[in-house]
Amino acid sequence: MENFHQRQIAIPSILKIGKNEIDHIGQYLLEAGFTNVACFFSAGIEELYGEKVFESLENQGINIVHKDIIDQTHIENVIDTAFSIPKSVNVLLGIGGGKALDYSKYCAHILALPFISVPTSTSNDGFCAPNASLLVNNKRKTIKATIPYGVIVDLTAVKNAPDICVYSGIGDLISKITAGRDWKMACSLSKAQFNDFAYLISQNSVLELLNYQDWDIKSLKFLYQLVYSLLMNGIAMEIASSSRPASGSEHLISHAYDSITHKPSMHGIQVGLATYICSYLQDYEFEKIKNLLIHTGFFDFLEKHPLNKQEFIQAIRKAPSIKEMFYTILSVPENIDKAVDFVENDPICKKTLV
Ligand SMILES: [Zn+2]
Repeated sequence: MENFHQRQIAIPSILKIGKNEIDHIGQYLLEAGFTNVACFFSAGIEELYGEKVFESLENQGINIVHKDIIDQTHIENVIDTAFSIPKSVNVLLGIGGGKALDYSKYCAHILALPFISVPTSTSNDGFCAPNASLLVNNKRKTIKATIPYGVIVDLTAVKNAPDICVYSGIGDLISKITAGRDWKMACSLSKAQFNDFAYLISQNSVLELLNYQDWDIKSLKFLYQLVYSLLMNGIAMEIASSSRPASGSEHLISHAYDSITHKPSMHGIQVGLATYICSYLQDYEFEKIKNLLIHTGFFDFLEKHPLNKQEFIQAIRKAPSIKEMFYTILSVPENIDKAVDFVENDPICKKTLV
C-alpha cells in the first residue's frame, strides 16, 4: 500500500514574475521574515544588477552577510562554500544565469536553509527545479536538491539577456511534450511510475505556449508565458518526485552530445533540436513543434550557430545508454536508425547540423 500514501510536496512560497522585480527583492525577503542574506551572483551579473539588489536589501534593513561571484560549479567548491557561510545567514539568494543558481541552490540544500532564485535569464527550467546541475569529477551531473523557497523573475532583466537564452528556454520548454510522451509510454509498459497531476501541469503549461500565436520572443507577454511555463515544469518535477515530466529521450540526446562534443551549445538549444527529432519518432505533435520552432526563429538561430552533425548522430546512438532503467522512444533499436535517417534527410536538420 506504500505507493498510495499521500506525500507532502514543497511549493515555492514566493512566486513573482513581472517588470523590475529586482527592485522589490528586499521587500519580499522582509515580508518572509529574512534578515541576514548570503548573495551569489553569476560572473558579470553584479556589474549589471548588484547596485539595485544591494539598494533594495539595504532599504529594508536586510544585512548582506556573505557575497560570492560564481563562475564554476564544481561540487567540492559548493561544499567548501556551504561550510564557510556565517551561521547568522538565514537565506541564500542566487542571482544570474544557471551557475549562480545551481551553486547557491545546492549550498542552501546542504545547509537546509531556504533558497531564493532570481534568474536574470531563463535558458532552462533549472531556476525553479528541485535539482542542481553541478560538475562532479568534471562531468555535468543533475543532483537532487530542494525546490527554491522563492522565485523572483524580473522580466526586464530576462528581456535584456542575449537572444540565445530565450531560444534555449524555448527549446527546454518544448521538450516537455516529447518527455511527457516518453513518460506515458514507459508507464504503459510498467517501466515508470505515473503522476497524473504532474503530467497535467507540465503538459498544460507547454500547450499554452504552443497555442500562443504572437511570436515576438522579446515581448513581455511572450516572456511571461515562457517563464511561467518553465516555472510550472519545475514544480511538476517536485510533484512527480522525478525528472520524468521535464526530461525524456530528447534530454538523453543532449546529455550524450555534451559528453561527446568539445563545443557544446546551451542546454535548451541542443534539447530543442533533439525534441524536433524525437517528436518525429513518436509521431506526436510534430507539426506543432516544428511550427513553434520555425515561427519563434529558433531554427534560424540554429542555422547561424549549427551543431556538429557527426557528433549529433553519435549522440543519438549513445543516448539510450545515458540513463539506466529509463525507457524512452530511443529504447526501441529501430528508432535509432530512423532518427539518423531523419537527420540525414530532413531539410531543417540539413541546415542546423553541419
Ligand atoms: Zn532541460
